[in-house]
Amino acid sequence: MTTGSDLLGRYAGAMVQVFGAPQLVLAEGHGCWVTDVDGKRYLDLLSGIAVNALGHGHPALVQAVAKQAESAIHISNFFTSEPAIALAERILSVSGAPTGSGVFFANSGTEATEAAIKLSRRTGRSRIVALEGSFHGRSTGALALTHKAAYREPFEPLIPGVVFVPPNDVEALTAAVDESTAAVFLEPIQGEAGVRELAADYLRAAREATSRHGALLVLDEIQTGIGRTGDWFAHQPSGILPDAMTLAKGLGGGIPIGALVTFGPQVTGMLAAGQHGTTFGGNPLACAAGLAVLDTIERDGLLEHVRDVGALLDDVRLEGVAGTRGRGLLRAVELDGIPSSAVMAAAREAGFIVNAVTPTAIRLAPPLVISESELRCFLDALPAILAAARASGEAAP
Ligand SMILES: *Cc1c(COP(=O)(O)O)cnc(C)c1O
Repeated sequence: MTTGSDLLGRYAGAMVQVFGAPQLVLAEGHGCWVTDVDGKRYLDLLSGIAVNALGHGHPALVQAVAKQAESAIHISNFFTSEPAIALAERILSVSGAPTGSGVFFANSGTEATEAAIKLSRRTGRSRIVALEGSFHGRSTGALALTHKAAYREPFEPLIPGVVFVPPNDVEALTAAVDESTAAVFLEPIQGEAGVRELAADYLRAAREATSRHGALLVLDEIQTGIGRTGDWFAHQPSGILPDAMTLAKGLGGGIPIGALVTFGPQVTGMLAAGQHGTTFGGNPLACAAGLAVLDTIERDGLLEHVRDVGALLDDVRLEGVAGTRGRGLLRAVELDGIPSSAVMAAAREAGFIVNAVTPTAIRLAPPLVISESELRCFLDALPAILAAARASGEAAP
């Protein structure tokens, strides 16, 4: 039998090593549980980084993809299909987008960001304001807006004209936005920075500053959208509408898809025929998957479920936990004196998949369908996981 360590050896000999050594070789998943090739089961509290919104093997998604694969997987953008049109309509409807809004389908988050950057250039301006801690993707355009130097610097020069301002600092933002600003890009909750939320007042101030100067407000809801926070989109409780919004991760439930949503006829009209494109984007298979995800969230009342079950993580009082952040089922547990890598390893040993999102915090982004008892199962195990992590002797960062 092929073991996990055999396969990891082959991985090292066959793959570009950009991800470092993988933690496990996974074989399959059912609901919120995954199994590795050695037969060990794990409760999946990361769901492929906020992707597997319906968990693994959800019948609605499996059936939608199988049925669509039987009729048409790909047709090219010389043509269109009912799933693509229906998914665009559904996204616009849950976005509260006005008449004349539109959707451009891509295949990933970074491609959605690229489309948004190109849209912003159609203002006739090229300056972009982004936030410290931001993550918008790894392609060279998106990378220019991604704050982390280790991601960016090996690939410079990138597109010029990007300025970074500290999050939740209204004064710094308003000072940075002027008549030369094409767009402000914001994640309502900065996932990769460690699940750091922007205040509703800050989002409203960003809306105001961009409107005042004719700049676009682009919200990156790639990680936070599609029910992750208990609303369709994380910015919605603030009451603002952006000019554009990017989506990916949870949208296809695991089938690759990204989207740029443009709000209102003026912004939607800024990208004209021939100015952007993609071969795979909007293919009927990915769009059928997206429709199954949105239908299931609605039919099963998952927004309310995410709020209810997520509340279990509002307040985790344990020795070794300094506090929690986030909303719904996008959360960080900030550790007190224990390195997150040790907690991630101890959790894995105990049968739980979590993510060391920063050196001092673990991220939880389980499937939206996780049950209260599954989440409690992790919370009950957490004291022993923290104790094991502490006992591992890894020094705190
Ligand atoms: C994951 C992510 C991206 C990039 O998406 P990819 O599909 O990996 O290209 C961009 N922005 C945010 C906020 C993300 O979480």
